[in-house]
Amino acid sequence: MATPLENYLSACNGKPNVAMTAYVANLQQVASVNPSIAADIVNEIDNQRSHLKLIASENYSSLAVQAAMGNILTDKYAEGYPEHRYYGGCVNVDAVESTAAREAENLFGADYAYVQPHSGADTNLVAYWAILSAKVEAPALEELGVKSLNDLTAEQFDALRKRLGNQRLMGLDYSCGGHLTHGYKMNVSARMFESHPYGVDKETGLLDYDAIEKQAMEVKPLILLTGYSAYPRKINFKRFREIADKCGAVLMVDMAHFAGLVAGKVFTGDYDPVKWADVVTTTTHKTLRGPRGAMILCKKEFADYVNKGCPTVLGGPLPHVMAAKALAFKEANTKEYQEYAHQVVKNAQALAKALQDLGVRLQTDGTDNHLMLADVTSYGLTGKQAEAAMFECGVTVNANALPYDKNGAWWTSGLRLGTPALTTLGMKEDEMKEVASIIDFVLKGTKPGLTKEGKPAKGKINLDPAVKEAASKRVQALLSKFVLYPELDLDFLKKEFVK
Ligand code: PLP
Repeated sequence: MATPLENYLSACNGKPNVAMTAYVANLQQVASVNPSIAADIVNEIDNQRSHLKLIASENYSSLAVQAAMGNILTDKYAEGYPEHRYYGGCVNVDAVESTAAREAENLFGADYAYVQPHSGADTNLVAYWAILSAKVEAPALEELGVKSLNDLTAEQFDALRKRLGNQRLMGLDYSCGGHLTHGYKMNVSARMFESHPYGVDKETGLLDYDAIEKQAMEVKPLILLTGYSAYPRKINFKRFREIADKCGAVLMVDMAHFAGLVAGKVFTGDYDPVKWADVVTTTTHKTLRGPRGAMILCKKEFADYVNKGCPTVLGGPLPHVMAAKALAFKEANTKEYQEYAHQVVKNAQALAKALQDLGVRLQTDGTDNHLMLADVTSYGLTGKQAEAAMFECGVTVNANALPYDKNGAWWTSGLRLGTPALTTLGMKEDEMKEVASIIDFVLKGTKPGLTKEGKPAKGKINLDPAVKEAASKRVQALLSKFVLYPELDLDFLKKEFVK
């Protein structure tokens, strides 16, 4: 029996396309070990192709970025950093990591880049510990006249441990758009630091820099942190720098969400975090459109501490992902990418305006980045219900709490909508009007489901079947004009790998 690759090569009339050949060959190898995993991968392409992806934290990486991750680099241990490894034979990983780091420094104009962290959550831990090491541990060791933690007595080590655990972090409250790792009680960040979150203004939903300054002068945090997962406005980092300098804090920015807008020169001057912060963390897979992973950019003063990510927090890096990061940074350092980043914001603003024209209330009345928070309570729904209804019609979004949300962090009153992925597909302002219209149409056609006792159930929906059918058709009509990875013949992949 012919293999999938043989079938493809005979079907393509002697003109194989590189992406398809690579995908078929890879899937054939995967299927030879476990066909169900190959089927899952193909089904995921199908799923992502057939849904309008409005999740603000997701994107579509290039096929080159994906290819860089599927190879032997995954097999290599390389604890340490380039030319300073705890393992032999790291010469090629050194080359990969150095290339990725230099590409990142180039792209963002940073003094130093550390590209090892596997995710945004652990990059923040590495950053916290780099700052603690630089600002608390190193001076303590100097005071005691020793060079290393290993030179401390058990009592001295214990005293230092307590001092490290007694520092203050001031980040944006989780309920106001900050991330879990910014000092939320359920996260390790609020257990290792004394966390003093700041909120947004209750009336406007905006960051109130004067109120943050007042709080920072009272708290005197070791780390003043800004950045967000769900805040629809740009941040004035110059103003944050002034506040940090005034209260003696290290300024850290988590730009996980908007790194692509910094790379793409949408956020410049006072809005460029790399220019103003001591330490900047980011994921690489959201607006930046790289592989799932993260990195730190920092001023020279912190470079040696950041390099101690391993052994402080991390184990071995993921060399195959660092290779993919190197590609993504290069892709982002182009005119095309800058156009993309500007279009992401234009699309977000077009979507926001279209929703507002349809009577939807938006947090802060709009957006100047890639995301917006839509209040869905005017449709008589919770965020979770709205999310479920949209998914049924082929639109992926996520429910998100609005600041000071009466429905709490689980059910929520809002949807977080983002444009990075649709913009990668090539959609523009006109398509955003259609997206807004579909959202409004679906939510108008959805009622809360009922409990057995006939009361509205927060987690259930009653979606009008006619609305579902019409909305799904509109979604598919839109997507048919903007096909994800058009190089990939999905029908062929399904036929060969999904049995
Ligand atoms: N920081 C911010 C601002 C985020 O929005 C996220 C994830 O959504 C993270 C960190 C965590 O990233 P990861 O999911 O890669 O751990």
